[in-house]
Amino acid sequence: MENLYDVIIIGSGPAGLTASIYTTRSALKTLVLAGEKWGGQLQLTSLVENFPGFPEGIQGPDLMLNMRKQAEHHGAEIKDINFTSGDFTKRPFSIVAGQDTYKAKAVIIASGADARWLDVPGEKERIGKGVSSCATCDSMFFRNKNVFIVGGGDSAMEEALVLAKVAQKVTLIHRRDSFRASEIMQQRAKDDPKITFMFNSVIAEIKGEGRVQSAVIKNSQTGETKELPVDGIFVAIGHIPNTSLFKGIDLDKEGYVAVRDHYHTNISGVFTAGDVHDRSYRQAITAAGFGAAAALEAERWLSIDGAAVEFKVN
Ligand code: NAP
Repeated sequence: MENLYDVIIIGSGPAGLTASIYTTRSALKTLVLAGEKWGGQLQLTSLVENFPGFPEGIQGPDLMLNMRKQAEHHGAEIKDINFTSGDFTKRPFSIVAGQDTYKAKAVIIASGADARWLDVPGEKERIGKGVSSCATCDSMFFRNKNVFIVGGGDSAMEEALVLAKVAQKVTLIHRRDSFRASEIMQQRAKDDPKITFMFNSVIAEIKGEGRVQSAVIKNSQTGETKELPVDGIFVAIGHIPNTSLFKGIDLDKEGYVAVRDHYHTNISGVFTAGDVHDRSYRQAITAAGFGAAAALEAERWLSIDGAAVEFKVN
């Protein structure tokens, strides 16, 4: 069957491309459905300084291009088309993307997650130019600078604490007057002398010549607005895992793929890797690690269980 692959990988961020490097090097016929916007969240990042092997850092899009070239070098077939649906009830699995249907003995779901953005004027065009969703990735660019963080959950507290180590001033802006973050995270943020809080407030607009220079803050109770100077804005209002198209795959209550043993999903032969199941680390290097692990598990499954066990939906 021409369209039959040993492994179809859905997603082309660090998890998906790393998985494809491993599967192709194990001589498994591999298709990567990369999506029309391939490369995942790193395509929106500028300098990546925490991916090992690049002493001076590397631009996010360059890192992804390198990973893609490496996957192609080893024989991965990569198509820049969007996954639209999958039938995981029969073997081989049927995967629909664009106009075509592909068959797969095993599938790795590595479709990632997208940061939830504020969706206010001036935000989109300044992502990577002062607007960020990852303090661990970008805090070093804000040494001795004045930054805002938006959100009231654990991520916002964590981002504030990371930024407080390098920034001059950190203001956490939250739309309500109480946080949903855990007590311990709130307390850590409150105990940090560099972090101040602005409650009942939202960012209504982000301004600046190219980069972020100021933000219009609106009081969510009075409607009053004020424009304040700022160098960086970190949006920490949650992530949206890209799972809405996966019918029959168990998700947790927040919509992330529910992982069983050895990066398996609830469906035998369907694995998962990266931010689509991981809400804790969300780093390129951890996603790449999950991709390698899922690929190794898929390879094992194909050679042992997948060859012998009748397909069933658990
Ligand atoms: P979250 O818990 O869903 O919190 C999102 C925050 O963003 C909320 O405070 C929410 O406000 C606010 N928000 C949502 N949409 C907004 C908008 N359009 N404008 C302004 N504010 C908005 O998300 P998270 O903080 O990313 O955490 C996700 C999960 O990961 C949680 O289970 C968390 O405990 C976990 N986590 C744990 C740690 C840790 O333990 N170290 C670190 C990070 C994440 P409201 O409160 O008003 O809804």
